[in-house]
Amino acid sequence: MKVLITGGAGFIGSNLVRYLGEQGDCSVRVLDDLSTGRRENLQGVAADFVEGSILDYEAVKEAARGMDSIVHLGAIPSVPRSIANPRASHEANTTGTLNVLEAAREVGVDHVVVASSSSVYGSNPKLPKSEYDWTRPMSPYAVSKQATEGYALAYQFSYGLKTLAFRFFNVYGPLQPANHPYAAVIPKFLDAALNDRPAQVHGDGEQSRDFTYVDTVCSVIHEAVRLQIHSQDPVNLAYGTNTTLTALLTEIEDQLGHSVARQHTEPRTGDVRASQADNSRVKELFPAVKPVGLHDGLAATIAWFKQEADQA
Ligand code: NAD
Repeated sequence: MKVLITGGAGFIGSNLVRYLGEQGDCSVRVLDDLSTGRRENLQGVAADFVEGSILDYEAVKEAARGMDSIVHLGAIPSVPRSIANPRASHEANTTGTLNVLEAAREVGVDHVVVASSSSVYGSNPKLPKSEYDWTRPMSPYAVSKQATEGYALAYQFSYGLKTLAFRFFNVYGPLQPANHPYAAVIPKFLDAALNDRPAQVHGDGEQSRDFTYVDTVCSVIHEAVRLQIHSQDPVNLAYGTNTTLTALLTEIEDQLGHSVARQHTEPRTGDVRASQADNSRVKELFPAVKPVGLHDGLAATIAWFKQEADQA
């Protein structure tokens, strides 16, 4: 299978490039503008790398030519980043997605997987969150992800493109950077804990997340491209766990064998209070995938952070 991965130099993308390479049944091309991704993430990995933007339609078309599937991960992620610059998020995430879908249609790639986000559920308080529940985005990022999945699914109805829109829920693992202002919570907590700094907790720490280890995401996507799985509805890519930030810190302390100080700050605008996926659809579509639990995923992530620190 020939697979184009947009955003393949980013956190999830570079894990996916490695994972697909290891399965032995995929040849991979990456299209990435290196805005948040890093070329070093793909060091030693067999992939055809194209530096370019999903906002450059000709570049997307060229990269898509001859592919069996496209996994579209390229985006400006993060809620706070979109609040700081909504236009940039809109352009990369919404117009960029339209370019990818149009390119697929024009050059004849008939299977496209896109990355949406649990943030689309926004102010809907129901738990766990089913794909059939109403959505109410609370940030420009969440709106742009709603548009991503909306376009992908509309292309199925309008043009017969086989599309699959995953809603990712707080993915974590190796290669996820901690050293920037929009870093995700697990790398931020681990970086603080391993460097004897207090972990900064927005609000009371009782907000919960459905943390998903990146290898679980990769194995689901591998099945999706292998079997060209598509769906008329979005699919939660998470397995229904519900971990508060306080519980996450306790698990980190247990694994590191020492306590971690907490520094509580104001809750963040646009953040949802609780997030937990209804996992029935993902289990139905991907029965062979066995998700990695938080304990083991965190252990592998801590090992990677320690190895990075040793090499620095
Ligand atoms: P990331 O920032 O590490 O990866 C995004 C990649 O897209 C980067 O390599 C970046 O350089 C690239 N990119 C950005 N703009 C581009 C453009 N115009 N043209 C080409 N490439 C461009 O983020 P990630 O965490 O790996 O996220 C991957 C996808 O998953 C994104 O679509 C994100 O919205 C989605 N997602 C991630 C999470 C999560 O928990 N990490 C949760 C929900 C959704």
